[in-house]
Amino acid sequence: MQRTAVVTGASSGIGAATAKRLAAEGWTVVAAARRLDRLGALSAEQPGIRPQALDVTDPRSVDDLADAVPHCDLLVANAGGAFDLAPLPDAEAETWARTYDVNVLGTVRTVQALLPALQAAKGHVVLTGSTAGRWVYEGGGGYVAAKHALAALRDTWRLELVESGVRVSEVAPGMVHTEEFSAIRFGGDEARAASVYEGVEALTAEDVADAIVWVAGRPPHVNIDLVQLTPQQQAGVGKVVRR
Ligand code: NDP
Repeated sequence: MQRTAVVTGASSGIGAATAKRLAAEGWTVVAAARRLDRLGALSAEQPGIRPQALDVTDPRSVDDLADAVPHCDLLVANAGGAFDLAPLPDAEAETWARTYDVNVLGTVRTVQALLPALQAAKGHVVLTGSTAGRWVYEGGGGYVAAKHALAALRDTWRLELVESGVRVSEVAPGMVHTEEFSAIRFGGDEARAASVYEGVEALTAEDVADAIVWVAGRPPHVNIDLVQLTPQQQAGVGKVVRR
């Protein structure tokens, strides 16, 4: 039977690279995000990709996704992002709420909605976490708290879903040079975004996709709890050696 994967946040960066890689390896891929034009371009580039409009912060949109995917072997819950780099005195609760909504509640909504299909298929949930789910850094509070929450959900869900045969894994990258992540974090300030990667050979979206596809490709009796990957030059969030 044809294997079906849903990849959220597939319109750019890690999600787009993962959707392409899975489709190239023979999966039918439902590529979901808000920007349908980008998803259309992705499906034109790589056969096997089906675009699906999705806003993980909108429960109706998430229900539409579940209706469109009655069979699901793999969910790569990847939609997310950071929206500030603000230490406590400057932190805005609204920005933290948005960060939590997209990264954590958005993932909860997506996994919950696809759960019947995943359970029927004894499927696999792979979360795109972050080193920010284990390491902390100044100014990172809102994002770090959200990715720590995601890591906690990974382990909670594994306990809750083990009887159904559904596996739950996390792929947690450090610094990945995707075209939009830092630009979004810094409100479109491209120069500030570029400075994040100066002198560092950061991970690429394809490096992370490679890890996700490896995790998803383990046989059903093997569960990979966590894969954390970083650039060689990054020994900790606050310890990046620039050359
Ligand atoms: P991008 O900004 O390129 O990708 C984010 C994706 O999430 C986009 O496809 C975006 O699509 C989607 N998205 C954002 N909001 C929503 C929403 N409300 N509903 C549905 N989709 C949404 O960044 P990356 O590829 O770098 O990041 C992907 C994941 O990896 C994120 O979870 C991020 O936190 C994590 N990560 C990134 C790291 C990095 O250094 N880049 C490091 C560690 C983890 P659209 O706008 O079209 O909806």
